[in-house]
Amino acid sequence: MGDRHWTVTGPLDANLQCAVCSDGLDEPRKLAGCGHYFCRSCIEAWLRTNATCPIDRHPASLGGLEQPDRLVVAMLGDLRIACSLCDFRGAQSAHQCPQFACPAPGCGFCGADNDHLLRHTERAHPALHPAPSPRARPDKSSSQLAYADQHDDHASDNLLLAGVAFAATLAGGFFLGKALANNSKKERQ
Ligand SMILES: [Zn+2]
Ligand SMILES: [Zn+2]
Ligand SMILES: [Zn+2]
Ligand SMILES: [Zn+2]
Repeated sequence: MGDRHWTVTGPLDANLQCAVCSDGLDEPRKLAGCGHYFCRSCIEAWLRTNATCPIDRHPASLGGLEQPDRLVVAMLGDLRIACSLCDFRGAQSAHQCPQFACPAPGCGFCGADNDHLLRHTERAHPALHPAPSPRARPDKSSSQLAYADQHDDHASDNLLLAGVAFAATLAGGFFLGKALANNSKKERQ
């Protein structure tokens, strides 16, 4: 179900299993009200036609999806997975999918999924994350991830990647400008 691109091949702890697709949590999201976890694509699809948690029927909405706790991300990193996009087999944390390559010039980083790529670009290339567009919430804590969550999932992936690619072009110019500035400084000394 959804747009997941990998499946678990090894043992799967029930706590790391999505109740909708029965596979390991893919881009996990937490429901604010009850704290249950699901794959992003699974829970977004469910909440388009339901207003409750699939497990305990606690009231839920697309706006109430939260980022996963670090511990969950770390535990998911230990899962043995197989990727259908790049034929990778091994620990999820070692998965570097060419499908989620960093758009920054010369970087070479590949993420395991969109979440992973965004965590990288936010940390390594802050210039790729300019001021949020007028449609995003203005508060600083809402990252590009939260912005993506407010939109249809297929559209958001494309929008997001287009945005990152566009920002990369800008950032490329910025880095180049800086490098040139540094060079001319050196020449003057
Ligand atoms: Zn799922
Ligand atoms: Zn629940
Ligand atoms: Zn892959
Ligand atoms: Zn990068």
